[in-house]
Amino acid sequence: MNALIGRAVAVLRNRPAGLISDFDGTLSEIAPTPEAADLRPECRAALEALSTTLELVALVSGRTVADLKAKVGLPGIVYIGLHGADWDGGSAADPAITRLAEWLGDRLGPAARLELKGPGFAVHYRGSPDPAEARRRILDLLSGRIPPGHVLTEGKQVVEVRPAKANKGEAVRRLIAGFKLRGVVYLGDDLTDADAFRAVAQWRARGGGAGLAVAVAGPETPLEVIAAADEVLVSVEDACQFLNRLALGLSRRTDP
Ligand SMILES: [Mg+2]
Repeated sequence: MNALIGRAVAVLRNRPAGLISDFDGTLSEIAPTPEAADLRPECRAALEALSTTLELVALVSGRTVADLKAKVGLPGIVYIGLHGADWDGGSAADPAITRLAEWLGDRLGPAARLELKGPGFAVHYRGSPDPAEARRRILDLLSGRIPPGHVLTEGKQVVEVRPAKANKGEAVRRLIAGFKLRGVVYLGDDLTDADAFRAVAQWRARGGGAGLAVAVAGPETPLEVIAAADEVLVSVEDACQFLNRLALGLSRRTDP
């Protein structure tokens, strides 16, 4: 991990600098239900330290901002929810989405759980006796029913319907522009994070600044995510260790 820490410290010495991270599966272990997931204590300490050192620490999640804030609760962090659709916790409900969610909810049965999130919704099938069958049923039900301007995406045992224009790549671009960042490290574990990895790589390739995309690979992490990353960590525990050592590295002076 030493080489990775050195690389990340070098990236974040380009100021203003930002650490941007996903939450579930990256800073918190994947849990049987979204409610059961919790920020790992070591990660909490690292985020606190980094938020006093860097110009930006941001969390970009599929959760709503309200949900994310309740889980993390740290001041001095920018919270972005719904994969980039929820910037201030004030995301409005969308009638077409609410109707579709209600229609789906009546047909899902107990094998899947629907979570309405304002302008989008998620259908979780973790815990279903036959996850492959549950997934197929959800996709069949939604086939041809996605409202215009929305997309269907999949994550770890979850199917989501959300606004098409919002994705984590767009969120990263907005953060870079808004905070005039010159150095960015992004951490994530799932398909929606691959958009952010590619945004970082494109920005770096254009000469926008120094960037590093780090995949936190768990047993369910798709290969596409790992392929889009610059570096790979193998667990949430490692991600927390990485962030703590990053905070320590950044607090040291480079000058003799
Ligand atoms: Mg995740």
